[in-house]
Amino acid sequence: MPSRTYIDNILNTLEEMSPGQVEFYQAVEEVLMSLLPLLESDARYEEQNILERIIIPERSIIFRVVWIDDNGKVQTNFGYRVQFNSAIGPYKGGLRFHPSVNLGIMKFLGFEQIFKNSLTGLQIGGGKGGSNFDPKGKSDNEIMKFCQAFMIELYKHIGKHKDIPAGDIGVGAREIGYLFGQYKKISGEFDGVLTGKGINWGGSKARKEATGYGSVYFAENFLNKYGKNLEGKRCAVSGSGNVAIYTIEKLYDLGAIPISCSDSKGTIYHKDGIDLSSLKAVKEIHHGSLEEYASLTSVCEYIPLNKYPKEGHAVWHLPCDVAFPSATQNELTLSDAKVLHKNGCILVNEGANMPTTPDALAYLKANDILFSPGKAANAGGVATSQLEMSQNASMSQWSFEEVDIQLRSIMNNIFKTAYETSVEFGCEGDLVSGANIAGFRKVANSMIEQGAV
Ligand code: NAP
Repeated sequence: MPSRTYIDNILNTLEEMSPGQVEFYQAVEEVLMSLLPLLESDARYEEQNILERIIIPERSIIFRVVWIDDNGKVQTNFGYRVQFNSAIGPYKGGLRFHPSVNLGIMKFLGFEQIFKNSLTGLQIGGGKGGSNFDPKGKSDNEIMKFCQAFMIELYKHIGKHKDIPAGDIGVGAREIGYLFGQYKKISGEFDGVLTGKGINWGGSKARKEATGYGSVYFAENFLNKYGKNLEGKRCAVSGSGNVAIYTIEKLYDLGAIPISCSDSKGTIYHKDGIDLSSLKAVKEIHHGSLEEYASLTSVCEYIPLNKYPKEGHAVWHLPCDVAFPSATQNELTLSDAKVLHKNGCILVNEGANMPTTPDALAYLKANDILFSPGKAANAGGVATSQLEMSQNASMSQWSFEEVDIQLRSIMNNIFKTAYETSVEFGCEGDLVSGANIAGFRKVANSMIEQGAV
């Protein structure tokens, strides 16, 4: 009968074999711990060594990316693609360009992606990639040069039936454009090897909006289950990138009041609601900092990084009903969770990947605050990427409304699956367990059916 010791042994080996990969270890520990009730109910997973197998990527590719900057200087970065699990379909997952990227971060994101993709109900495996390249402060020409150099190696490992990357932090429409252009030039083929493409060349309508919209649809489902909704709720949102912007947009659609956003330099508190068009202008057009947003409107408050609470993030200290962490990993700490609780927050809905630290998560759970894990709540992006692949395969393009209807139905189903699984395993409303068990079960059963490979 699997026990805590069985899982501890696997985690100890993992720590020994992947030293310093803290985020990866954190993600694996959370998933494995929540699987205990499933492991106890079905001995096959232990007999077939599924846990030991599922925590090792099928393949991790690390490569050198060499490019020339605007001053003619040779620059070098690390490139990564972690092809984690293909039991239920070709690898699928975003590319992240950020100075914090390393193998541990790639493995954490790739591991989470396996279960997220499984939860969507679509045939997609898990992968992730990226580089420690920092797009900030680079010219358009430098971004293009970097993307082209990155694709020179990446193209060898991807394909529409093999591995289909998309965007993530630091990789938006502009970067996908440069990456796709280079892929097409090298391969000589115009195919759906990347998602998040431009609308005129194979992209899907509503893909840009999908992760943020999907996150809000998920939150609405969760609140409805407890007889509540988002109407009139004050919502604290962190981040000001793709996920945060379209979370804010959909919150307005559902009658909520998004009161904040943030970036790596500071936080905006806008009591009456964030001005969406100013935010889009600053972030999507000028690629600027939120200080610029603050200069556009006198009624908001700008809180720079050096004024943040000790051990916490300014966003979570704003009184709110619902929190939408939508920037990056480990951005909501235990001290933040305590303040959210004190201020009467009823739901934390993760738009980012693993933004809540483990001790903060334990505190929220102990204090009966509803919690939507990122692998369920932010799955709308990858689900719509799969809809983009379907459109590419049939050489068609669906309307915005058509894609949005499908997205909403997928998010409703993900919620239903995670919730019903939590009920099945005796922990009603614990969506961390519900999502992990449901996502894992489908992949693990497929691995068993495909034999020891
Ligand atoms: P993005 O457009 O690049 O925006 C990221 C935002 O987070 C920016 O406001 C950025 O601020 C901030 N940020 C990033 N790293 C930070 C750090 N270390 N400290 C403080 N702020 C930081 O990225 P995104 O696509 O919105 O992704 C946000 C999160 O959602 C990530 O966890 C990503 O993995 C997850 N996610 C994204 C998608 C998708 O479809 N895009 C799908 C599922 C999950 P600066 O601009 O100042 O750097």
